[in-house]
Amino acid sequence: MGSCKDQEKEHVLLRVRVHVQGPIIVGAGPSGLAVAACLSEHKVPFVILERSNCIASLWQNKTYDRLKLHLPKHFCELPLKGFPNTFPKYPSKYQFISYMESYAEHFNIHPKFNQMVQCAEFDKGSKLWVVRTLEFEYVSHWLVVATGENAEPFVPKIPGMGLFRGPIAHTSVYKSGSGYASQRVLVIGCGNSGMEVSLDLCRHHATPYMVARNTVHVLPREMFGFSTFGIAMTLHKWLPLKLVDKILLLATNFILGNTNHYGIKRPKTGPIELKLVTGKTPVLDVGQLAQIKCGNIKVMEGVKEITRHGAKFVNGQEKEFDAIILATGYKSNVPTWLKGCDFFTEDGMPKTPFPNGWKGDDGLYTVGFTRRGLQGTSCDAIKIAEDIAEQWRTVISGIVTGPDI
Ligand SMILES: Cc1cc2nc3c(=O)[nH]c(=O)nc-3n(C[C@H](O)[C@H](O)[C@H](O)COP(=O)(O)OP(=O)(O)OC[C@H]3O[C@@H](n4cnc5c(N)ncnc54)[C@H](O)[C@@H]3O)c2cc1C
Repeated sequence: MGSCKDQEKEHVLLRVRVHVQGPIIVGAGPSGLAVAACLSEHKVPFVILERSNCIASLWQNKTYDRLKLHLPKHFCELPLKGFPNTFPKYPSKYQFISYMESYAEHFNIHPKFNQMVQCAEFDKGSKLWVVRTLEFEYVSHWLVVATGENAEPFVPKIPGMGLFRGPIAHTSVYKSGSGYASQRVLVIGCGNSGMEVSLDLCRHHATPYMVARNTVHVLPREMFGFSTFGIAMTLHKWLPLKLVDKILLLATNFILGNTNHYGIKRPKTGPIELKLVTGKTPVLDVGQLAQIKCGNIKVMEGVKEITRHGAKFVNGQEKEFDAIILATGYKSNVPTWLKGCDFFTEDGMPKTPFPNGWKGDDGLYTVGFTRRGLQGTSCDAIKIAEDIAEQWRTVISGIVTGPDI
Protein backbone atom coordinates (compact mmCIF):
# COMPACT_ATOMS: atom_id res chain seq x y z
CA MET A 1 0.00 0.00 0.00
CA GLY A 2 3.04 2.34 0.18
CA SER A 3 3.34 5.16 2.69
CA CYS A 4 2.40 8.81 2.90
CA LYS A 5 6.09 9.70 2.51
CA ASP A 6 6.25 7.87 -0.86
CA GLN A 7 3.18 9.74 -1.98
CA GLU A 8 4.52 13.13 -0.97
CA LYS A 9 8.26 12.84 -1.47
CA GLU A 10 8.24 15.39 -4.24
CA HIS A 11 6.24 17.97 -2.32
CA VAL A 12 7.48 19.50 0.87
CA LEU A 13 4.31 20.99 2.24
CA LEU A 14 3.88 22.95 5.42
CA ARG A 15 0.61 22.02 7.02
CA VAL A 16 -1.07 23.30 10.16
CA ARG A 17 -1.20 20.47 12.72
CA VAL A 18 -4.57 19.98 14.43
CA HIS A 19 -4.94 17.69 17.45
CA VAL A 20 -8.45 16.24 17.29
CA GLN A 21 -10.38 15.42 20.45
CA GLY A 22 -12.06 12.09 19.72
CA PRO A 23 -12.02 10.36 16.33
CA ILE A 24 -11.42 11.72 12.84
CA ILE A 25 -14.22 10.61 10.50
CA VAL A 26 -13.40 10.77 6.79
CA GLY A 27 -16.56 11.32 4.71
CA ALA A 28 -19.82 13.14 5.46
CA GLY A 29 -22.15 10.77 3.65
CA PRO A 30 -24.86 8.82 5.50
CA SER A 31 -22.19 6.56 7.09
CA GLY A 32 -20.03 9.37 8.47
CA LEU A 33 -23.12 11.18 9.77
CA ALA A 34 -24.47 8.02 11.41
CA VAL A 35 -21.23 7.45 13.32
CA ALA A 36 -21.16 11.14 14.32
CA ALA A 37 -24.75 10.99 15.61
CA CYS A 38 -24.03 7.88 17.67
CA LEU A 39 -20.84 9.44 19.05
CA SER A 40 -22.85 12.56 20.02
CA GLU A 41 -25.22 10.38 22.01
CA HIS A 42 -22.20 9.09 23.92
CA LYS A 43 -20.89 12.67 24.31
CA VAL A 44 -17.72 11.86 22.38
CA PRO A 45 -16.37 14.75 20.28
CA PHE A 46 -15.24 14.14 16.68
CA VAL A 47 -14.15 15.87 13.51
CA ILE A 48 -15.59 14.97 10.09
CA LEU A 49 -13.47 15.73 7.02
CA GLU A 50 -15.42 15.93 3.77
CA ARG A 51 -13.91 16.60 0.35
CA SER A 52 -16.99 18.26 -1.14
CA ASN A 53 -18.89 21.31 0.07
CA CYS A 54 -21.97 19.55 1.43
CA ILE A 55 -23.18 16.51 3.36
CA ALA A 56 -24.38 13.40 1.44
CA SER A 57 -22.55 14.63 -1.66
CA LEU A 58 -23.16 11.39 -3.58
CA TRP A 59 -26.90 11.95 -3.25
CA GLN A 60 -26.74 15.71 -3.84
CA ASN A 61 -24.32 15.76 -6.76
CA LYS A 62 -24.04 12.37 -8.42
CA THR A 63 -27.54 10.96 -8.69
CA TYR A 64 -30.26 11.34 -11.32
CA ASP A 65 -33.41 13.34 -10.68
CA ARG A 66 -35.86 10.44 -10.77
CA LEU A 67 -34.00 8.39 -8.16
CA LYS A 68 -36.02 7.04 -5.26
CA LEU A 69 -34.79 4.79 -2.48
CA HIS A 70 -34.77 1.26 -3.82
CA LEU A 71 -35.89 -0.20 -0.51
CA PRO A 72 -38.76 0.89 1.78
CA LYS A 73 -37.74 3.71 4.10
CA HIS A 74 -37.64 1.63 7.28
CA PHE A 75 -34.74 -0.37 5.77
CA CYS A 76 -32.82 2.85 5.05
CA GLU A 77 -33.08 4.70 8.37
CA LEU A 78 -30.00 5.83 10.18
CA PRO A 79 -29.68 5.16 13.93
CA LEU A 80 -31.51 7.28 16.53
CA LYS A 81 -33.72 9.30 14.16
CA GLY A 82 -36.01 7.80 11.54
CA PHE A 83 -37.68 9.29 8.47
CA PRO A 84 -40.62 11.64 9.05
CA ASN A 85 -43.98 9.81 9.03
CA THR A 86 -45.13 12.08 6.23
CA PHE A 87 -42.56 10.62 3.82
CA PRO A 88 -43.80 7.99 1.35
CA LYS A 89 -42.72 4.35 1.55
CA TYR A 90 -40.01 4.98 -1.10
CA PRO A 91 -38.68 8.53 -0.49
CA SER A 92 -37.32 10.48 -3.44
CA LYS A 93 -33.66 11.48 -3.50
CA TYR A 94 -34.71 15.02 -2.52
CA GLN A 95 -36.57 13.68 0.51
CA PHE A 96 -33.58 11.54 1.41
CA ILE A 97 -31.31 14.60 1.22
CA SER A 98 -33.68 16.62 3.40
CA TYR A 99 -33.71 13.72 5.89
CA MET A 100 -29.88 13.79 5.92
CA GLU A 101 -29.86 17.56 6.44
CA SER A 102 -32.30 17.46 9.34
CA TYR A 103 -30.35 14.50 10.79
CA ALA A 104 -27.12 16.52 10.75
CA GLU A 105 -28.90 19.53 12.24
CA HIS A 106 -30.60 17.47 14.96
CA PHE A 107 -27.29 16.03 16.15
CA ASN A 108 -25.45 19.33 15.67
CA ILE A 109 -23.02 17.79 13.16
CA HIS A 110 -20.83 20.30 11.35
CA PRO A 111 -18.32 18.61 9.02
CA LYS A 112 -15.24 20.45 7.80
CA PHE A 113 -15.96 20.83 4.09
CA ASN A 114 -13.50 21.04 1.19
CA GLN A 115 -11.12 18.81 3.14
CA MET A 116 -10.07 16.13 0.70
CA VAL A 117 -8.01 13.57 2.60
CA GLN A 118 -4.90 12.95 0.54
CA CYS A 119 -3.18 10.59 2.89
CA ALA A 120 -3.72 8.90 6.25
CA GLU A 121 -1.29 6.72 8.13
CA PHE A 122 -0.78 5.32 11.63
CA ASP A 123 2.36 6.65 13.26
CA LYS A 124 3.75 3.83 15.37
CA GLY A 125 5.98 6.19 17.36
CA SER A 126 3.26 8.48 18.66
CA LYS A 127 0.49 5.84 18.29
CA LEU A 128 -1.60 8.42 16.48
CA TRP A 129 -3.35 8.51 13.14
CA VAL A 130 -1.99 11.29 10.97
CA VAL A 131 -4.52 12.46 8.37
CA ARG A 132 -3.42 15.00 5.76
CA THR A 133 -5.46 17.35 3.61
CA LEU A 134 -3.93 20.03 1.43
CA GLU A 135 -3.47 22.53 4.25
CA PHE A 136 -3.90 20.59 7.49
CA GLU A 137 -2.49 17.62 9.32
CA TYR A 138 -5.10 16.21 11.70
CA VAL A 139 -3.98 13.77 14.39
CA SER A 140 -6.08 11.49 16.55
CA HIS A 141 -6.09 8.14 18.34
CA TRP A 142 -8.96 6.98 16.13
CA LEU A 143 -9.70 7.02 12.40
CA VAL A 144 -13.13 6.17 10.99
CA VAL A 145 -13.12 5.45 7.25
CA ALA A 146 -16.53 6.53 5.86
CA THR A 147 -15.66 7.34 2.25
CA GLY A 148 -18.11 4.79 0.85
CA GLU A 149 -18.18 1.89 -1.58
CA ASN A 150 -19.12 4.37 -4.32
CA ALA A 151 -16.43 7.03 -3.91
CA GLU A 152 -15.32 7.21 -7.56
CA PRO A 153 -17.13 6.41 -10.83
CA PHE A 154 -15.83 3.21 -12.41
CA VAL A 155 -15.07 3.77 -16.10
CA PRO A 156 -14.12 0.61 -18.00
CA LYS A 157 -11.62 0.67 -20.87
CA ILE A 158 -13.57 -0.17 -24.02
CA PRO A 159 -11.64 -0.32 -27.29
CA GLY A 160 -12.26 2.74 -29.49
CA MET A 161 -13.77 4.87 -26.73
CA GLY A 162 -11.57 7.82 -27.68
CA LEU A 163 -12.91 7.77 -31.26
CA PHE A 164 -16.59 8.38 -30.52
CA ARG A 165 -17.76 11.74 -31.85
CA GLY A 166 -20.75 12.19 -29.51
CA PRO A 167 -20.85 12.78 -25.75
CA ILE A 168 -19.91 9.98 -23.34
CA ALA A 169 -21.12 10.46 -19.75
CA HIS A 170 -21.05 8.34 -16.61
CA THR A 171 -24.36 8.01 -14.72
CA SER A 172 -22.75 10.03 -11.90
CA VAL A 173 -23.26 13.14 -14.07
CA TYR A 174 -26.60 12.11 -15.62
CA LYS A 175 -29.52 14.12 -14.23
CA SER A 176 -32.40 13.47 -16.63
CA GLY A 177 -33.17 12.44 -20.19
CA SER A 178 -34.47 15.89 -21.10
CA GLY A 179 -31.40 16.67 -23.19
CA TYR A 180 -31.61 13.37 -25.10
CA ALA A 181 -35.06 13.63 -26.76
CA SER A 182 -35.18 11.80 -30.16
CA GLN A 183 -31.60 10.56 -29.70
CA ARG A 184 -30.35 6.99 -29.89
CA VAL A 185 -28.47 6.43 -26.67
CA LEU A 186 -26.24 3.49 -25.86
CA VAL A 187 -26.48 2.72 -22.12
CA ILE A 188 -23.63 0.45 -21.08
CA GLY A 189 -24.60 -1.54 -17.98
CA CYS A 190 -27.79 -3.16 -16.76
CA GLY A 191 -27.75 -2.74 -12.98
CA ASN A 192 -30.23 -0.50 -11.18
CA SER A 193 -28.65 2.67 -12.62
CA GLY A 194 -28.50 1.37 -16.21
CA MET A 195 -32.10 0.18 -16.10
CA GLU A 196 -33.46 3.32 -14.44
CA VAL A 197 -31.56 5.67 -16.77
CA SER A 198 -32.92 3.67 -19.74
CA LEU A 199 -36.43 4.06 -18.35
CA ASP A 200 -35.88 7.79 -17.85
CA LEU A 201 -34.62 8.12 -21.44
CA CYS A 202 -37.79 6.40 -22.69
CA ARG A 203 -39.92 8.84 -20.73
CA HIS A 204 -38.05 11.70 -22.42
CA HIS A 205 -38.67 10.28 -25.90
CA ALA A 206 -35.15 9.03 -26.50
CA THR A 207 -34.37 5.51 -27.75
CA PRO A 208 -32.14 3.66 -25.27
CA TYR A 209 -30.14 0.60 -26.26
CA MET A 210 -29.10 -1.05 -23.01
CA VAL A 211 -26.09 -3.36 -22.98
CA ALA A 212 -26.66 -6.42 -20.80
CA ARG A 213 -23.27 -8.13 -21.02
CA ASN A 214 -23.53 -9.73 -17.59
CA THR A 215 -26.25 -11.77 -15.98
CA VAL A 216 -28.56 -9.92 -13.61
CA HIS A 217 -31.56 -10.67 -11.40
CA VAL A 218 -34.57 -8.47 -12.02
CA LEU A 219 -37.14 -8.72 -9.22
CA PRO A 220 -40.42 -6.86 -8.76
CA ARG A 221 -39.96 -4.10 -6.18
CA GLU A 222 -43.05 -5.44 -4.44
CA MET A 223 -44.86 -8.77 -4.40
CA PHE A 224 -48.53 -8.92 -3.45
CA GLY A 225 -48.29 -5.45 -1.86
CA PHE A 226 -45.20 -6.20 0.24
CA SER A 227 -41.61 -5.15 -0.43
CA THR A 228 -39.70 -8.02 -2.06
CA PHE A 229 -36.68 -7.28 0.11
CA GLY A 230 -38.87 -7.32 3.23
CA ILE A 231 -40.38 -10.66 2.21
CA ALA A 232 -36.90 -12.09 1.64
CA MET A 233 -35.65 -10.91 5.03
CA THR A 234 -38.73 -12.31 6.81
CA LEU A 235 -38.49 -15.69 5.07
CA HIS A 236 -34.77 -15.84 5.82
CA LYS A 237 -35.54 -15.81 9.56
CA TRP A 238 -36.98 -19.31 9.21
CA LEU A 239 -35.72 -20.74 5.94
CA PRO A 240 -32.27 -21.36 4.44
CA LEU A 241 -31.07 -18.75 1.93
CA LYS A 242 -31.23 -21.05 -1.07
CA LEU A 243 -34.88 -21.88 -0.36
CA VAL A 244 -35.71 -18.18 0.09
CA ASP A 245 -34.13 -17.46 -3.30
CA LYS A 246 -36.11 -20.31 -4.91
CA ILE A 247 -39.38 -18.91 -3.55
CA LEU A 248 -38.47 -15.38 -4.71
CA LEU A 249 -37.62 -16.56 -8.22
CA LEU A 250 -40.77 -18.65 -8.49
CA ALA A 251 -42.92 -15.66 -7.54
CA THR A 252 -40.85 -13.39 -9.82
CA ASN A 253 -41.39 -15.67 -12.83
CA PHE A 254 -45.10 -15.61 -12.07
CA ILE A 255 -45.21 -11.79 -11.82
CA LEU A 256 -42.63 -10.67 -14.42
CA GLY A 257 -42.32 -13.69 -16.70
CA ASN A 258 -39.04 -15.18 -17.84
CA THR A 259 -36.55 -12.31 -18.28
CA ASN A 260 -34.29 -14.58 -20.40
CA HIS A 261 -36.81 -14.10 -23.21
CA TYR A 262 -35.90 -10.41 -23.34
CA GLY A 263 -32.11 -10.80 -23.26
CA ILE A 264 -31.78 -10.39 -19.48
CA LYS A 265 -30.12 -13.57 -18.30
CA ARG A 266 -30.33 -14.62 -14.67
CA PRO A 267 -27.20 -15.61 -12.70
CA LYS A 268 -27.05 -19.20 -11.48
CA THR A 269 -26.78 -18.07 -7.85
CA GLY A 270 -30.02 -16.75 -6.34
CA PRO A 271 -30.59 -12.99 -5.87
CA ILE A 272 -30.20 -12.68 -2.10
CA GLU A 273 -27.30 -15.15 -1.86
CA LEU A 274 -25.54 -13.25 -4.67
CA LYS A 275 -26.10 -9.94 -2.89
CA LEU A 276 -24.74 -11.22 0.40
CA VAL A 277 -21.75 -13.03 -1.10
CA THR A 278 -20.64 -10.64 -3.86
CA GLY A 279 -22.54 -7.43 -3.12
CA LYS A 280 -24.21 -7.55 -6.56
CA THR A 281 -27.59 -5.92 -6.05
CA PRO A 282 -30.64 -7.30 -7.84
CA VAL A 283 -32.46 -4.82 -10.05
CA LEU A 284 -35.80 -3.85 -8.54
CA ASP A 285 -38.31 -3.31 -11.32
CA VAL A 286 -40.08 0.05 -11.28
CA GLY A 287 -41.36 -0.12 -14.84
CA GLN A 288 -38.20 -0.89 -16.82
CA LEU A 289 -39.24 -4.43 -17.72
CA ALA A 290 -42.51 -3.28 -19.30
CA GLN A 291 -40.47 -0.95 -21.56
CA ILE A 292 -38.09 -3.79 -22.41
CA LYS A 293 -40.99 -6.12 -23.22
CA CYS A 294 -42.56 -3.64 -25.61
CA GLY A 295 -39.21 -2.89 -27.26
CA ASN A 296 -38.86 0.73 -26.11
CA ILE A 297 -35.68 -0.25 -24.30
CA LYS A 298 -33.63 -2.43 -26.65
CA VAL A 299 -31.42 -4.97 -24.93
CA MET A 300 -28.03 -5.52 -26.60
CA GLU A 301 -25.28 -8.06 -26.04
CA GLY A 302 -21.75 -6.96 -25.02
CA VAL A 303 -19.96 -4.13 -26.82
CA LYS A 304 -16.92 -5.24 -28.82
CA GLU A 305 -15.70 -1.75 -29.65
CA ILE A 306 -16.83 1.84 -29.87
CA THR A 307 -16.59 3.46 -33.30
CA ARG A 308 -16.67 7.11 -34.44
CA HIS A 309 -20.44 7.09 -34.77
CA GLY A 310 -21.61 4.17 -32.66
CA ALA A 311 -20.60 0.71 -31.55
CA LYS A 312 -19.93 -2.83 -32.75
CA PHE A 313 -21.38 -5.62 -30.64
CA VAL A 314 -20.06 -9.09 -29.89
CA ASN A 315 -22.81 -10.68 -32.00
CA GLY A 316 -21.48 -8.84 -35.08
CA GLN A 317 -24.17 -6.12 -35.16
CA GLU A 318 -23.09 -2.50 -35.68
CA LYS A 319 -25.24 0.52 -34.76
CA GLU A 320 -25.02 4.28 -34.79
CA PHE A 321 -25.62 6.29 -31.62
CA ASP A 322 -25.87 9.96 -30.70
CA ALA A 323 -24.64 9.54 -27.14
CA ILE A 324 -23.22 6.96 -24.75
CA ILE A 325 -23.99 6.66 -21.04
CA LEU A 326 -21.76 4.53 -18.85
CA ALA A 327 -23.85 2.84 -16.15
CA THR A 328 -20.77 0.97 -15.04
CA GLY A 329 -20.90 1.61 -11.31
CA TYR A 330 -18.51 2.95 -8.74
CA LYS A 331 -15.48 1.92 -6.74
CA SER A 332 -13.99 2.63 -3.32
CA ASN A 333 -11.04 5.06 -3.20
CA VAL A 334 -9.54 3.93 0.13
CA PRO A 335 -6.28 2.51 -1.35
CA THR A 336 -5.47 5.92 -2.86
CA TRP A 337 -5.26 7.64 0.53
CA LEU A 338 -5.02 5.11 3.37
CA LYS A 339 -1.40 4.03 3.58
CA GLY A 340 0.72 1.53 5.49
CA CYS A 341 -2.24 -0.61 6.49
CA ASP A 342 -3.33 -3.96 5.09
CA PHE A 343 -6.88 -3.94 6.43
CA PHE A 344 -8.34 -3.25 2.97
CA THR A 345 -8.18 -5.22 -0.29
CA GLU A 346 -6.79 -3.68 -3.49
CA ASP A 347 -10.42 -2.84 -4.34
CA GLY A 348 -10.73 -0.78 -1.19
CA MET A 349 -13.05 -3.12 0.73
CA PRO A 350 -12.30 -4.52 4.22
CA LYS A 351 -10.66 -7.94 3.97
CA THR A 352 -12.78 -9.18 6.86
CA PRO A 353 -16.36 -9.64 5.69
CA PHE A 354 -19.57 -8.47 7.39
CA PRO A 355 -20.37 -8.46 10.30
CA ASN A 356 -16.74 -8.20 11.48
CA GLY A 357 -15.23 -5.71 9.01
CA TRP A 358 -15.98 -2.58 11.07
CA LYS A 359 -12.90 -2.65 13.29
CA GLY A 360 -9.21 -2.87 12.46
CA ASP A 361 -6.10 -2.44 14.57
CA ASP A 362 -4.73 0.66 16.31
CA GLY A 363 -8.02 2.56 16.45
CA LEU A 364 -9.02 2.05 12.81
CA TYR A 365 -12.75 1.70 12.01
CA THR A 366 -14.75 1.36 8.79
CA VAL A 367 -18.40 2.14 8.22
CA GLY A 368 -20.51 1.62 5.09
CA PHE A 369 -18.41 -1.12 3.49
CA THR A 370 -20.75 -4.02 4.16
CA ARG A 371 -22.38 -4.28 0.70
CA ARG A 372 -25.65 -3.99 2.60
CA GLY A 373 -26.51 -0.36 1.88
CA LEU A 374 -27.82 1.87 4.63
CA GLN A 375 -28.84 -1.05 6.83
CA GLY A 376 -25.20 -2.14 7.02
CA THR A 377 -24.22 1.45 7.80
CA SER A 378 -26.52 1.62 10.84
CA CYS A 379 -25.24 -1.66 12.13
CA ASP A 380 -21.57 -0.54 11.87
CA ALA A 381 -22.17 2.98 13.20
CA ILE A 382 -23.70 1.80 16.48
CA LYS A 383 -20.87 -0.66 17.14
CA ILE A 384 -18.13 1.84 16.27
CA ALA A 385 -19.55 4.57 18.53
CA GLU A 386 -19.94 2.15 21.45
CA ASP A 387 -16.40 0.88 21.02
CA ILE A 388 -14.84 4.35 20.84
CA ALA A 389 -17.06 5.69 23.64
CA GLU A 390 -15.87 2.98 25.98
CA GLN A 391 -12.24 4.00 25.37
CA TRP A 392 -13.16 7.67 25.58
CA ARG A 393 -14.86 7.25 28.98
CA THR A 394 -11.74 5.56 30.26
CA VAL A 395 -9.67 8.56 29.27
CA ILE A 396 -12.15 11.11 30.61
CA SER A 397 -12.74 9.42 33.93
CA GLY A 398 -9.01 9.14 34.39
CA ILE A 399 -9.42 5.61 35.77
CA VAL A 400 -6.75 4.36 33.42
CA THR A 401 -4.34 6.73 31.75
CA GLY A 402 -2.13 4.12 30.13
CA PRO A 403 0.00 4.78 27.09
CA ASP A 404 -2.50 3.11 24.74
CA ILE A 405 -4.82 6.08 24.57
C1 LIG B 1 -27.71 5.71 -7.60
C2 LIG B 1 -27.58 5.09 -6.25
C3 LIG B 1 -28.74 4.69 -5.54
C4 LIG B 1 -28.64 4.09 -4.29
N1 LIG B 1 -29.79 3.73 -3.61
C5 LIG B 1 -29.69 3.15 -2.38
C6 LIG B 1 -30.86 2.77 -1.64
O1 LIG B 1 -31.98 2.97 -2.08
N2 LIG B 1 -30.71 2.19 -0.42
C7 LIG B 1 -29.46 1.99 0.12
O2 LIG B 1 -29.36 1.45 1.23
N3 LIG B 1 -28.33 2.33 -0.57
C8 LIG B 1 -28.42 2.90 -1.79
N4 LIG B 1 -27.28 3.24 -2.48
C9 LIG B 1 -25.98 2.94 -1.92
C10 LIG B 1 -25.51 4.24 -1.27
O3 LIG B 1 -24.32 4.64 -1.85
C11 LIG B 1 -25.32 4.10 0.17
O4 LIG B 1 -26.36 3.48 0.81
C12 LIG B 1 -24.97 5.41 0.89
O5 LIG B 1 -24.84 6.58 0.12
C13 LIG B 1 -23.65 5.07 1.48
O6 LIG B 1 -23.26 6.10 2.31
P1 LIG B 1 -21.73 6.30 2.66
O7 LIG B 1 -21.69 7.45 3.58
O8 LIG B 1 -21.12 5.00 3.07
O9 LIG B 1 -21.04 6.65 1.26
P2 LIG B 1 -21.24 7.97 0.37
O10 LIG B 1 -22.66 8.36 0.34
O11 LIG B 1 -20.56 7.68 -0.91
O12 LIG B 1 -20.45 9.09 1.18
C14 LIG B 1 -19.03 9.10 1.27
C15 LIG B 1 -18.54 10.53 1.45
O13 LIG B 1 -17.12 10.50 1.57
C16 LIG B 1 -16.58 11.58 0.84
N5 LIG B 1 -15.18 11.27 0.48
C17 LIG B 1 -14.74 10.31 -0.37
N6 LIG B 1 -13.40 10.32 -0.44
C18 LIG B 1 -12.97 11.30 0.40
C19 LIG B 1 -11.68 11.79 0.76
N7 LIG B 1 -10.56 11.25 0.27
N8 LIG B 1 -11.60 12.82 1.65
C20 LIG B 1 -12.73 13.36 2.19
N9 LIG B 1 -13.98 12.93 1.87
C21 LIG B 1 -14.10 11.91 0.99
C22 LIG B 1 -17.49 11.71 -0.35
O14 LIG B 1 -17.40 13.00 -0.94
C23 LIG B 1 -18.86 11.41 0.26
O15 LIG B 1 -19.51 12.58 0.69
C24 LIG B 1 -27.37 3.86 -3.74
C25 LIG B 1 -26.21 4.25 -4.44
C26 LIG B 1 -26.31 4.87 -5.67
C27 LIG B 1 -25.06 5.26 -6.41
